[in-house]
Amino acid sequence: LSPVPSDIEISRGQTPKAVDVLAKEIGLLADEIEIYGKSKAKVRLSVLERLKDQADGKYVLVAGITPTPLGEGKSTVTIGLVQALTAHLNVNSFACLRQPSQGPTFGVKGGAAGGGYAQVIPMEEFNLHLTGDIHAITAANNLLAAAIDTRILHENTQTDKALYNRLVPLVNGVREFSEIQLARLKKLGINKTDPSTLTEEEVSKFARLDIDPSTITWQRVLDTNDRFLRKITIGQGNTEKGYSRQAQFDIAVASEIMAVLALTDSLADMKARLGRMVVASDKSGQPVTADDLGVTGALTVLMKDAIKPNLMQTLEGTPVFVHAGPFANIAHGNSSVLADKIALKLVGEEGFVVTEAGFGADIGMEKFFNIKCRASGLVPNVVTAGVPLKKEYTEENIQLVADGCCNLQKQIQIAQLFGVPVVVALNVFKTDTRAEIDLVCELAKRAGAFDAVPCYHWSVGGKGSVDLARAVREAASKRSRFQFLYDVQLPIVDKIRTIAQAVYGAKDIELSPEAQAKIDRYTQQGFGNLPICMAKTHLSLSHQPDRKGVPRDFILPISDVRASIGAGFIYPLVGTMSTMPGLPTRPCFYDIDLDTETEQVKGLF
Ligand code: ADP
Repeated sequence: LSPVPSDIEISRGQTPKAVDVLAKEIGLLADEIEIYGKSKAKVRLSVLERLKDQADGKYVLVAGITPTPLGEGKSTVTIGLVQALTAHLNVNSFACLRQPSQGPTFGVKGGAAGGGYAQVIPMEEFNLHLTGDIHAITAANNLLAAAIDTRILHENTQTDKALYNRLVPLVNGVREFSEIQLARLKKLGINKTDPSTLTEEEVSKFARLDIDPSTITWQRVLDTNDRFLRKITIGQGNTEKGYSRQAQFDIAVASEIMAVLALTDSLADMKARLGRMVVASDKSGQPVTADDLGVTGALTVLMKDAIKPNLMQTLEGTPVFVHAGPFANIAHGNSSVLADKIALKLVGEEGFVVTEAGFGADIGMEKFFNIKCRASGLVPNVVTAGVPLKKEYTEENIQLVADGCCNLQKQIQIAQLFGVPVVVALNVFKTDTRAEIDLVCELAKRAGAFDAVPCYHWSVGGKGSVDLARAVREAASKRSRFQFLYDVQLPIVDKIRTIAQAVYGAKDIELSPEAQAKIDRYTQQGFGNLPICMAKTHLSLSHQPDRKGVPRDFILPISDVRASIGAGFIYPLVGTMSTMPGLPTRPCFYDIDLDTETEQVKGLF
């Protein structure tokens, strides 16, 4: 239609096929799905075992350029591309997207189901709650947070013996250690399995984790942009007996449990990762983990359904997985390894899986290659750079477009560092002119792109991206020369410097004393050989959001470093990065409403 209706009107104008029909079409068996309502289903991991001998399809990543605060259309390009491949070129394909956080949905950005005639439907179900995975993460994260402070309180108020008696369960007169407790005993050098044989000294060693409160890195989380929770004081009730400390809330999608969900490949692996998560150090400098707190089993129970990818569909009825949603600036910014793995089997050898990484190539794509592909072992075939031309201007302005292309060219070069061919998808807005489109395609090819194609999926659906789909298919037929940017065995500082210089274009890095101390501690604790997940603004290649284009000659300040041992990365903070967003004066929630007669959601976009 012209003009193109709002995203929610388009979404509502199409009736999705029943999800069990979709599941059958793509080769899932009836007992491999768990249906949620009419148009969503969780897919059981047993499908991976059934299809283990099936060859994988081609693996395509959609990345972007340095974005505007509103997003530049990566989700839209991802969906337009699969709609073109499946519905118009008859090639099996799957889109894998992140589940959006409700922070941005009610804050600045709005929904993330794509837009125009390239969307996941029903978009209100995609954007709100989905099947509850983020709620499960919030529950698990906060259970662990409660476990930490409560343990400190109890250790402060109980004798070694009383503490020990409560921690080792008495079952019908027989005391037994749990599996995790046995592992902890081993770690403490106590090679005993019968609780009654422990000496006084061993009892006290076992009972006390002796957490140093100043080293606690595990925060509480909430999926709401609530700036007033950025710094809080906990434990102010009389019942906490004066155990009070400064703490903070992060947005739920920044929880390490979200990263674990996104990077795991099985229930057993998820349980092991959850158990390995380091929450603090003890007073002698040793890491304290979720296993030490005895909470791993409970966390796994809370996450047992969240681990199954969520099946939905595009406007043109093609399959989509929506699974995991870490932010790309303060987390690793990619949807789940499991969704990609299952989709690669389901599409078959000739098919395509198109997965999306958050923000520019410097942010989500770098982490896709160095963290996600390292964890999954999957080899990407093509990078598609989703690019808007000039969203904020309506007049033709060749010079402005040419000037803006330096960022696109740099992002193409970043992708080339990894040896994967790049196809630029120019996401055309209605005010873009032919001359501008031709210029961007020309400059992209000059910067080394395999191809650059204008696409019109937003205004006409999949048929507007058939040229893009052909170009991606052509690029995928070439051999991928994929390589990581750095060797994980390098010292932490060298890995950070490599990313800063090769990807961001920094002259060098500068570590705060705090960052240096943390690096020394993590190295000494044996965590030096993990990949790096930079927490950096997405609004510039540098650390300064207002430096657009290709900033040069800057020194990248590393203010702090954290470790996500369960997820499996070291997490440096660049400059001042907040892990809890705030709301603007006029947030999106102003427009959101429910028609109480029809039960329809209004105002989501
Ligand atoms: P990203 O994935 O990069 O964050 P999205 O694909 O979610 O971006 O798109 C952001 C917003 O821009 C959506 O509301 C979408 O409808 C709109 N949009 C995307 N492409 C176009 C286009 N070609 N014309 C007009 N609006 C667009």
